[in-house]
Amino acid sequence: MLKNEAYVEGKTSVWWDIDRCPVPVGYDACRVGPCIQSALEKLGCSGPLTITAVGNLKHTPEHVLRGLSSSGIVVKHSPCGGRNISTYIRNWTLDNPPPAKIMFISDSFGVKSVSRSLSWLQARGFNILLACEDTLNQASATCAGWLWKTLLEGETTRRQPLQTGESARFFCTVCVDVKSYECFSCQSLADFTMHLWGKEHGAREFDCTPRDLTIDKDYLKMMAGDDDDDSSSNRIVKELLESLET
Ligand SMILES: [Zn+2]
Repeated sequence: MLKNEAYVEGKTSVWWDIDRCPVPVGYDACRVGPCIQSALEKLGCSGPLTITAVGNLKHTPEHVLRGLSSSGIVVKHSPCGGRNISTYIRNWTLDNPPPAKIMFISDSFGVKSVSRSLSWLQARGFNILLACEDTLNQASATCAGWLWKTLLEGETTRRQPLQTGESARFFCTVCVDVKSYECFSCQSLADFTMHLWGKEHGAREFDCTPRDLTIDKDYLKMMAGDDDDDSSSNRIVKELLESLET
């Protein structure tokens, strides 16, 4: 793939639906981060990079979670998986205006289900990149794209772990503090596993979907500035709120 000037500047945020596009059986999870990084560099993406794996992680093997976090991939437990990723992506764009780049990793069904959100962002100047577990569908015609297994066959050179830009490695998006909007987070895999199988988490997970959607709207309202604030981030917040109200 040739380098593209459009991809050189700005941050790249990778959002990975690990439920629909898991680490292949027998594949070393430590290699995923370096392979994604290498593929992006070949395309010309040389700015800061963060990778976030999102999914229902209760049944993800510990060695996979350990491998991902040790290479600097942020891991988020979200029992609704990919359904929530478009919300996380949109929230990320509030603080990271174009020419930021967004890479989405899923299967063809997952890509199709967020294609409206991605098109919306693309129309506002974000560069969208895709990696797909099965086939690259029509959405990839306007984006740079990879097949997941091809991408994972890339470079294996040992690299420094990515800078996550986060205060922790593991997050539980179910257990959100209603006042601060901060979700549960920790540095240690042992603490994360204990949390996911604890009673408090279990009770919250039972009805997480309506809570997630409520928080999203409230979060946007909290982020919205004054009416005369004409900054690009505030315009995006207001457009998002309007799209949710209709
Ligand atoms: Zn939790």
